[in-house]
Amino acid sequence: MAGKVKVYWLEDKCPQPQDCGKCLEVCPSTVFVLVATNRERYKEPENWVIMPSFELFCTSCNKCTDICPNDAIKIEVKAD
Ligand code: SF4
Ligand code: SF4
Repeated sequence: MAGKVKVYWLEDKCPQPQDCGKCLEVCPSTVFVLVATNRERYKEPENWVIMPSFELFCTSCNKCTDICPNDAIKIEVKAD
């Protein structure tokens, strides 16, 4: 199973991931990471993205797709 799953995060459907974060909380394999795309000293970052950095650990349980209110995550299980 490991390595056969592709995890996609659709930025246009999730403009404010820092205000939601449900996928980060629900994933039992900690696949997602919230990352600031710009950072200035002493300022809160304004733009964040969700990266499926640990896609390798995805078990395709679909908890993230079930909980996402914006349909912003796609899980693709590849055939052998
Ligand atoms: S399908 Fe399950 S394991 Fe994979 S990213 Fe979503 S919540 Fe995590
Ligand atoms: S659950 Fe959906 S809307 Fe919420 S941060 Fe994750 S991808 Fe974005």
